[in-house]
Amino acid sequence: MNDIETKLQSVLQTIREAEKKSSRAENSVRLLAVSKFHPLNLILDAIAAGQFFFGENRVQEAREKFFEVFKTQQNVRLHLIGSLQKNKVSHAVKIAHCIESVDRITLLQELQRICEKQNKKIEILFELHTAEDSKAGFENFASLHEAVELCANGNFPNIIPKGFMTMAPFTNDEKLIRKSFITLRETKEKLQKEFSSLSLSELSMGMSGDYKIAIEEGSTEVRIGTAIFGERN
Ligand SMILES: *Cc1c(COP(=O)(O)O)cnc(C)c1O
Repeated sequence: MNDIETKLQSVLQTIREAEKKSSRAENSVRLLAVSKFHPLNLILDAIAAGQFFFGENRVQEAREKFFEVFKTQQNVRLHLIGSLQKNKVSHAVKIAHCIESVDRITLLQELQRICEKQNKKIEILFELHTAEDSKAGFENFASLHEAVELCANGNFPNIIPKGFMTMAPFTNDEKLIRKSFITLRETKEKLQKEFSSLSLSELSMGMSGDYKIAIEEGSTEVRIGTAIFGERN
């Protein structure tokens, strides 16, 4: 067993225990291995250990590594989780299966334009800003609502919304972290009810430091970097 495999199995076991503890179905939480700042060989180790979903923040870095990965590994799925600039959308659509960090309507418009051009469809999550100390995500419920409504009304036929993503605050205060996750879950419930033509089941929440709490609050995908690949330089 390589080092990555040992850590992966430990994280997976923790996920399965957290599912059980909160009466969630087994395997209802997916592990996204966040490989940003880590080299290709560690990604290949993780794939060899059975991991297929990966997250990266930066388009350029993702391209450099995953161009190599996809040469031999067609089953691997890449999710972009970092804030996405307009001029990177074209490369992002070429390489990613899902953009989890959709945080503005102008980005939806650009994604639609590029997807049409590339004759592609792309999955997305709406990122909601739920913590004081980050800037990422739709600023409030109203702005997010407007974006979801535009999707529900058929404005972006090449975009497939799958749900929501958030980052909890960087703090040891469990209450504050939990509050972030509850906000995302309640937002999902409201918007899914109102826009029932969309399938908004995904809740991407939980990182190395807080994923047990996220699973208790309904996470369907945890994004784990450090606990698998170690500290980033
Ligand atoms: C880096 C990052 C992660 C992973 O964080 P760890 O604490 O290393 O598990 C998850 N989500 C996003 C959006 C990130 O930028």
